[in-house]
Amino acid sequence: MHVLVTGGAGYIGSHTVKELLQAGYKVTVLDNLSRGHRAVARVLPGAEFVWGDIADRELVGGLLRTRNIRAVLHFAALSLVSESVAEPSLYYHNNVVKGLSLLEAVREAGVPYFIFSSTAAVYGEPVQVPIEEGHSLVPTNPYGATKLSFEEALRWYGVAYGLKYIILRYFNAAGADPEGELGEDHQPETHLIPLVLQAALGLRPKVTIFGTDYPTPDGTCMRDYIHVTDLAAAHVLALRALEGELLSGAYNLGNEQGYSVREVVEVARRVTGRNFPVEEGARRPGDPAVLVASSRRIREELGWRPRYGDLETIVRTAWEWHRRHPEGYGDGTKTGFHD
Ligand code: UDP
Repeated sequence: MHVLVTGGAGYIGSHTVKELLQAGYKVTVLDNLSRGHRAVARVLPGAEFVWGDIADRELVGGLLRTRNIRAVLHFAALSLVSESVAEPSLYYHNNVVKGLSLLEAVREAGVPYFIFSSTAAVYGEPVQVPIEEGHSLVPTNPYGATKLSFEEALRWYGVAYGLKYIILRYFNAAGADPEGELGEDHQPETHLIPLVLQAALGLRPKVTIFGTDYPTPDGTCMRDYIHVTDLAAAHVLALRALEGELLSGAYNLGNEQGYSVREVVEVARRVTGRNFPVEEGARRPGDPAVLVASSRRIREELGWRPRYGDLETIVRTAWEWHRRHPEGYGDGTKTGFHD
């Protein structure tokens, strides 16, 4: 079976391409390189890489038909909460307008299966933890709102056109390929674990904790960190479930355990053996205090089992990547993310 992976040169997309290839799928990646990395194509020579945009109808339609694509895994999106608060128009354009263009191409070509990268941000401020899939959906930032819009479109496309889909709602993806080939490289970096590891490497003078007055045991935000390879493996399970004509639906992906920012810093100091400086700062807008998943549904229905679940393993695999690739993939600062 041949699948199309949009955003396959990005962090979660690239790890998923690796898992798909190992599971025997034929893979075409479509990535406009606004956030992804050209170097991923060298690391994963088993996949076909096409540099282009998901909103290019002619390109996408041509790929879907000529490769006889049976499933689209859609990762290509903007995914930073703070950026989305500052520039919602970017997020609506990239995540909704362009996403719907892709969905139209999928409908036109009659592709039967679709897997969508969604996020815990669709839930907003949790009223119940751990968060189950039936939790209310009231995003508190444009990033979550745009992901939810696309989820809703998928649902109605499923009803009207028979598209079978699985929505995967990621909690905090972290860590790196345990074989060391792929890792996390965002320009600019905003995520806690890579920032902390860059501080450990001396590439940053310090780490700032965003808020110490949250209603949590140590006052800092708690998040559910999940290893990117465990996330990637879930996509292969989702694809198999779709091929088996399992009903469409949404699944959380997390480890069901929350770690505070201070705890992440402690684990990183232990793993790296380096005592980098940390300062306390103001809250970051749009951050809920606690986000912890219930992943019971995906465990029970798809048989998902995390292999790299504990935080120490997550941080260690990330550390190995960062130590070997202090400059990331080495393609420098990226600013041109508008198209
Ligand atoms: N965080 C922090 N300092 C940083 C970056 C992040 O304290 O320099 C906190 C952030 O407020 C959140 C957690 O770390 O509570 C995880 O943030 P990240 O950006 O990694 O992921 P998000 O939860 O936004 O998806």
